[in-house]
Amino acid sequence: MYGLKAIVIGAGMGGLTAGIALRQAGYQVEIYEKTSKLRPAGAGISLWSNGIKILNKLGLGKEIAAIGGQMNRMEYRSHTDELLNHVDLAALVAKVGEKPYPVARTDLQQMMLTAFGESDVRLGMRCVSVKEDEDSATAIFEDGSTATGDIIIGADGIHSVVRSYVTGKETQPRYAGYVNWNGLVPASPDLADNDVWVIYVGEGKRASMMPVGGNRFYFFFGCPMSEGTSVEPENRRAELKEIFAGWAQPVQNLIEKLDPYQLNRLEICDLDPLPNLVKGRIALLGDSAHATTPTLGQGGCQAMEDAEVLSRFLVTTNLSVADALLRYQGERKERTANLVLKARKRTDTIYGKNAEITQEWYEQLKAEEEKDVTDAIAKIILGGPLR
Ligand SMILES: Cc1cc2nc3c(=O)[nH]c(=O)nc-3n(C[C@H](O)[C@H](O)[C@H](O)COP(=O)(O)OP(=O)(O)OC[C@H]3O[C@@H](n4cnc5c(N)ncnc54)[C@H](O)[C@@H]3O)c2cc1C
Repeated sequence: MYGLKAIVIGAGMGGLTAGIALRQAGYQVEIYEKTSKLRPAGAGISLWSNGIKILNKLGLGKEIAAIGGQMNRMEYRSHTDELLNHVDLAALVAKVGEKPYPVARTDLQQMMLTAFGESDVRLGMRCVSVKEDEDSATAIFEDGSTATGDIIIGADGIHSVVRSYVTGKETQPRYAGYVNWNGLVPASPDLADNDVWVIYVGEGKRASMMPVGGNRFYFFFGCPMSEGTSVEPENRRAELKEIFAGWAQPVQNLIEKLDPYQLNRLEICDLDPLPNLVKGRIALLGDSAHATTPTLGQGGCQAMEDAEVLSRFLVTTNLSVADALLRYQGERKERTANLVLKARKRTDTIYGKNAEITQEWYEQLKAEEEKDVTDAIAKIILGGPLR
């Protein structure tokens, strides 16, 4: 179908990727964002090769390589600094045909805003509901204004308002049982080599650093915790010192170096797989459709895959918008549900839901061959729309 008008709710990485893809398909696109100043949640993100392939297809290959870190290796270490396994990622890249790039979220957001046209994102527009008739779909905003197009894309994140229209019920996020702290620090050799993604694991917790552009590390910590805890920024370094007491020296160095006032502290949630991702002319995309725990590093990559598949069916089929959306759902529902459940299982293993299973996993890490690790990651990447 040519000449459609799309209304996108949310200017996160899903909404922006969809906006860029649909514009390139020749559509008129309006993106509406509730915040008055865009600020990405979280400090960094690892974009695996399936996400990078989508960006390549959108013409952003050089831009992402310029802001991405050089992640050539992966290392698992015990919390007492025993090397558990070491993986050269060259074999993965050879198998899937593209590198992964960890990036700072602000750099990624700026890259995407520039590609879409920053002034074209309508800020301070909180969508409160959506409706449709035979010929069009309309988003209604808090200030009473409306936007009408041929299609509405609900890329409004885990707390989506569009989702209740699509599924016909309220779906609450599920607390995954752990807290994540994340931020950026300047790279330095007392933390890690600047081409390695290092992950320290032990006691059902983890601490990790990966290189991003600008000679920095994106770091994160994770620890199981009951729901509803909160700690003021000034006390967050002390909190991490206590939780990670006795861990390897680079982890201690990281805790000393991080800026507690720039440290994000998040309770991690996901969504149970939804019965449907589309209704009529209205589609969910990204976290609104399938928010996942970040233990496979695939949430954002899946939002990008959604954008590619959705724009492809809209352009290449001609029966109706609703028909194209059903085809999109047909290609995306199972893949995203499987990844959410796989990440959930991995989360439980990493964060000690069952101590015996977590201990077995630590043993398994020691026994794993490089090929086992790269094959497992490649399988996820190659399950996407761009093989
Ligand atoms: C700690 C952590 C680490 C992660 N690491 C990775 C990783 O390494 N790799 C990876 O691929 N993924 C990762 N993810 C997942 C990734 O961040 C998300 O999947 C991705 O950000 C989803 O993008 P989105 O655009 O769908 O949603 P969001 O980024 O949540 O964007 C939604 C946008 O919609 C706006 N909005 C919300 N409601 C409304 C409304 N009513 N009206 C208008 N606008 C609205 C919001 O303000 C926001 O700008 C991680 C997630 C977390 C929490």
